[in-house]
Amino acid sequence: MTETLNQELPCYYMVPKERVDEILAEYNPDEIVIATLTSHSSLQIFHGARKMGFKTMGITVNHDTRYFDAFPLAKPDEFVKMKDFDEIFDRSGEFADKNVVLIPHGSFVEYMGAKRFQELDIPVYGNRAVLQWESDRDMERQWITSAGVPMPRIINDARDIDQPVLVKYHGAKGGRGFFVAKDYAEFKMGIDHTQPYTIQEYVLGTRYYLHFFYSPLSSEGYKVRDGSLELMSIDRRDESNIDEMYKLGSQEDMKRQGLFPSFVVTGNVPVVIRESLLPKVFNMAENVVKRSYELFGGIWGPFCLESIVTDKLEIKVFEISSRIVAGTNPFISGSPYADMIYPGMSTGARIAMEIKNAAETDRLGEILT
Ligand code: AMP
Repeated sequence: MTETLNQELPCYYMVPKERVDEILAEYNPDEIVIATLTSHSSLQIFHGARKMGFKTMGITVNHDTRYFDAFPLAKPDEFVKMKDFDEIFDRSGEFADKNVVLIPHGSFVEYMGAKRFQELDIPVYGNRAVLQWESDRDMERQWITSAGVPMPRIINDARDIDQPVLVKYHGAKGGRGFFVAKDYAEFKMGIDHTQPYTIQEYVLGTRYYLHFFYSPLSSEGYKVRDGSLELMSIDRRDESNIDEMYKLGSQEDMKRQGLFPSFVVTGNVPVVIRESLLPKVFNMAENVVKRSYELFGGIWGPFCLESIVTDKLEIKVFEISSRIVAGTNPFISGSPYADMIYPGMSTGARIAMEIKNAAETDRLGEILT
């Protein structure tokens, strides 16, 4: 995710699984508290956890939480207010006493930093080892392409730009720090050589953010390894200002006025994908899951393949998010896909259901790291 992280990777420390298991051994499986940072998809996570009968905890770090009063069914039972993220480390014993399980989401991991998230000695839902593979663009590419899933082509030398490209500065987040160039001249005009960057083929097509859930505990449905793969929903992001820029004329005209396209996510819209693409969609996700087990012990729980479908109906994945994405938020009461598996179920509730099943069958150690 950030350059700093890349530099720190070789000596990164992750809380050992044995330590997490030790903490879990003291947990009362009937008293688990689902906790997350109050932002991103936390309304959905709390709402789903409450539906499954869990107590919930909202962790806040200088964040206004009054909006939760407006949504009583998604308001956590307790808020724990902190002045900074260091305090979570200082208070991990208190969290353990309360049987807390942390649910990671994009903002939680990003604000805290992937590396520090891995160091937390509080049980976390999902495999924390995935953070390293996901936050380094080269490792992410190695994982996805070695699973046989196509990604946008990388252009190593800017002089070879012979089609529209997206220049991504390392550490660019949420679509900030990208720029589009259609040829070498435009690249030279826009590039800031003081920052490391990669040049990627601009894939022209329609975007689908595919929300999967892999359960190693379930053996129903679309079987993958010993578990099952579920497609919970699909969204498309609203991105400012690129989505509305066309209204002002050509991008060239805009550039002359100093207005450049940006890809900052501001909201999410539900979509469904053409049904004939579903075999390909499942195949891609299946291979990504299988490869993750070969590379780093697996990905389980929610993940998202961020993809573009071209007019030749090819699918290219430009990024993977290895946890719940905010694009699942339009589906608090189900989705056209989830309704054919678990009617009315959100991804947040699906996470809670998984934890509940694991607690009831003494398998928490298999899904918490
Ligand atoms: P990201 O930060 O990688 O999620 O990308 C932010 C946004 O940039 C995406 O939601 C897409 O709209 C766009 N994008 C990223 N990579 C590509 C690509 N290779 N081709 C076209 N659009 C892209």
